[in-house]
Amino acid sequence: MMTKSLTNDVLTQWDHDHFFHPSTHLGQFARRDVGNRIVKTADGVHITDREGRTSLDAFAGLYCVNVGYGRSEIADAIAEQAHELAYYHAYVGHGTEASVTLSRMIAERAPEGMNHVYYGMGGSDANETNIKLVWYYNNVLGRPKKKKIISRWRGYHGSGLVTGSLTGLELFHKKFDLPLEQVLHTQAPYYFRRKDRSMSEAEFSADCAAKLEEMILREGADTIAAFIGEPILGTGGIVPPPEGYWSAIQAVLEKYDILLIADEVITGFGRLGTMMGSEHYGLKPDLITIAKGLTSAYAPLSGSIVSDKMWAVLEKGTDEFGPIGHGWTYSAHPIGAAAGVANLKLLDSLNLVSNAGTVGKYLNTAMADALGGHAHVGDVRGEGMMCAVELMKDRDDHIFFDAADKVVPRIVAAMLERGVIARAMPQGDIIGFAPPFSLTKEQVDEIVGVTQASIAEVLGG
Ligand code: PMP
Repeated sequence: MMTKSLTNDVLTQWDHDHFFHPSTHLGQFARRDVGNRIVKTADGVHITDREGRTSLDAFAGLYCVNVGYGRSEIADAIAEQAHELAYYHAYVGHGTEASVTLSRMIAERAPEGMNHVYYGMGGSDANETNIKLVWYYNNVLGRPKKKKIISRWRGYHGSGLVTGSLTGLELFHKKFDLPLEQVLHTQAPYYFRRKDRSMSEAEFSADCAAKLEEMILREGADTIAAFIGEPILGTGGIVPPPEGYWSAIQAVLEKYDILLIADEVITGFGRLGTMMGSEHYGLKPDLITIAKGLTSAYAPLSGSIVSDKMWAVLEKGTDEFGPIGHGWTYSAHPIGAAAGVANLKLLDSLNLVSNAGTVGKYLNTAMADALGGHAHVGDVRGEGMMCAVELMKDRDDHIFFDAADKVVPRIVAAMLERGVIARAMPQGDIIGFAPPFSLTKEQVDEIVGVTQASIAEVLGG
């Protein structure tokens, strides 16, 4: 390979000169206040860079390399597919053995009554598809006004125009003229940060449902098409829903004939220890967004799983209006589909979903035991292979740190020095963990030990 002969200095120079990195502070990168890291190889739960530094990746890339790195079963499936048929499109009834097989495998793993899959490349475009399908659905049903989508503050649904609007994090709106006007945001199901400290979890869930209903009534139910949510908030802070939240929310949606989109880009295919997050929390969605865990990121592939109820209306629509006017060149790309089939088989054969449940529980318990008593740890929370540690300046008086203190970036940097990658979540002082499902209990102990030592280094205790 050409790059083998390049020195790290040359690559670093080219990186700074030409590579526009996503989600990066461009000025700091240009001034080299933010270092670059050129990753070279990976195996199991470890990545190694060109300088030979190896780190335990406790975030599975971006919550996506669920089966772990270096799985030859998936690499071989990709190579075989590339040799046999690297590409053919999926328009007008075309497919490949891999894309048809994968559709069947997804339908078998989806909740009851969800049997059709539309494919995209990433989570953002899958959510764009979902919103278009919702609008199409209501147009076919003769409800042209029913178009607004309700999302939650701190929800994350992508970076596109509609999906960046759905994302309830200011950073994704600021200076991009978002959110678009069809998108509304309601209260985040974030019990730890509730304003009224006297509320119980159940009361807070009821309050979230009441605020949703107020919004629907204020806007007019005939204008609200869908509600979108992650079963457990991901990028917004790794926040499991408070007790009774989803049943209270779903009762409101049902009352006003509003569709539910479960964004399972993170939770789909095992991260909570169940095949789907919807199953875990009793959600009955009309659409499910899938991406990351579908291929464990070995190839880009996403999907929208469509309920039979919506499918019947979409079919009727095409009888009336012609073929569905929505298609990507790379829908059901054969290489992505082959990776998906191999990945889902591997999840089963290695029992990885169950491992995510068992080791995930161990991770959450060990983290809470080690850090729960620290003077600056406000909350340790999670579910399955997701865990968050939220830090506070003063936990007795419930005072948060100033963003300018950069507490979590400093802790995460200290962790990296000790060989563990965690994520500084984008809003609030939250350290996030979402490791591969193949993680062992010994590796959990390493992660917890490094977290504890790094917090002590930065904050004392
Ligand atoms: N939805 C959720 C819940 C996500 O976590 C993400 C990505 N972190 C997306 C959508 C967007 O996916 P992508 O980055 O692949 O477009």
